[in-house]
Amino acid sequence: MSNPNTNSKALFERAKAVIPGGVNSPVRAFKSVGCDPIFIEKGLGSKIYDVDGNRYLDMICSWGPLILGHSHPALLENIEAVFSRGTSFGVPTPQEVTMAELIAEAYQSVDMIRMVNSGTEATMSAIRVARGYTNRNKILKFEGCYHGHSDALLVKSGSGTLTYGVPTSPGVPEATVRDTLTGRYNDIEMTRKIFEDNKDEIACVIVEPVAGNMGVIPSTKAFLEALRTLCDEFGAILIFDEVITGFRLDFGGAEAVYEVHPDLVCFGKIIGGGLPVGAYGGKREIMSIISPLGPVYQAGTLSGNPLAMHMGIQTLKYLKVHPEVYVHMENKAIQIETELSAFIESHKLPLTFVRFRGMTCLFFKAGPFNSYDDVKGCDTEKYGEFFRKMLSEGILLPPAQFEGWFLSEAHSMQDIEYLISKTKEVLLTMYAF
Ligand SMILES: *Cc1c(COP(=O)(O)O)cnc(C)c1O
Repeated sequence: MSNPNTNSKALFERAKAVIPGGVNSPVRAFKSVGCDPIFIEKGLGSKIYDVDGNRYLDMICSWGPLILGHSHPALLENIEAVFSRGTSFGVPTPQEVTMAELIAEAYQSVDMIRMVNSGTEATMSAIRVARGYTNRNKILKFEGCYHGHSDALLVKSGSGTLTYGVPTSPGVPEATVRDTLTGRYNDIEMTRKIFEDNKDEIACVIVEPVAGNMGVIPSTKAFLEALRTLCDEFGAILIFDEVITGFRLDFGGAEAVYEVHPDLVCFGKIIGGGLPVGAYGGKREIMSIISPLGPVYQAGTLSGNPLAMHMGIQTLKYLKVHPEVYVHMENKAIQIETELSAFIESHKLPLTFVRFRGMTCLFFKAGPFNSYDDVKGCDTEKYGEFFRKMLSEGILLPPAQFEGWFLSEAHSMQDIEYLISKTKEVLLTMYAF
């Protein structure tokens, strides 16, 4: 970063007057890293440029959607033609069919799929379907997993709570979350106990198969297998929230990687190629209860929007014919892991680098990391300092400790080497030996 943030600062002042906190999603305010946000003018490949002309290596990638990087040629192809044919019709378009076919082909558990406009809508709707299908009200989620901001899912709960959920946000009525149970991630015994204590009452379990919203914490294969078994045993629906992991871990997502098959899957992020999209899909028998086939209502004026479908289809088609994208991404992640883990070890730093496939995160605390309990006590102050110093070196990390570093196909080996060397350099300035 070479130029002062004059333009960003001016925009932030204007924004704060008319947008709560100056941002349209809280993390963008950079509050937890102790500085003001930068405003972005454009992105190209692995780099983004702010309104003051500074260039950054982008480790956010829009929080996941941009698996091919910014402005990828495959996504821009034909975009003007699509645009000029009209941007929304409110009646079916061919692209919606292609999109549904692509996802159903990639995911073993998905026979049918419904497009929505965000990940939040996808999880909210999947929960409604699970409740409608089972005729039960309770849902089970895990502490530290984020499933969008709908009322029933905005529950973190005190750890170990087996009773009623406690809302994480004012404005969420207690009655709405009374039926939300919260378990500990990767804790099979606790999950079984919750099922036994709530016999015939749990409609569904919703889980991020690899947690990406408390930093990155993969679930164990045994945990996901146990969820499958428990759901079968107690007649509940298993929902994988693959809004981040979908088409990121692999073309078939976490389902393919773990070989555990959910009943419903939620999507977002990558399947929109950078436009606002979500989707939920699953077994034909369950999806058939959705209106107009069945009685469970769910609708959307802009759902399946042709522009969004175009960007999503182009992304998925590219990934389908270029499976090497996943190899590249994992190799880059392994490179970072190998170098940083060795560095942390040799300097005895109180840090842990976690990687699963191409998903990565640097925790400012010694590991291991298995659940939300383990991320408590991370040194968020130090993370803030680290973030600010990396930013001044031209690297944009997630402006919060509990988020992963997002890689894309556009990140070159030079980018990765720059990231690694700057990380080491900055960490050395932060810890006195
Ligand atoms: C981002 C995210 C969501 C919410 O998606 P939005 O499009 O932001 O509403 C849901 N679940 C997970 C796992 C996510 O990472």
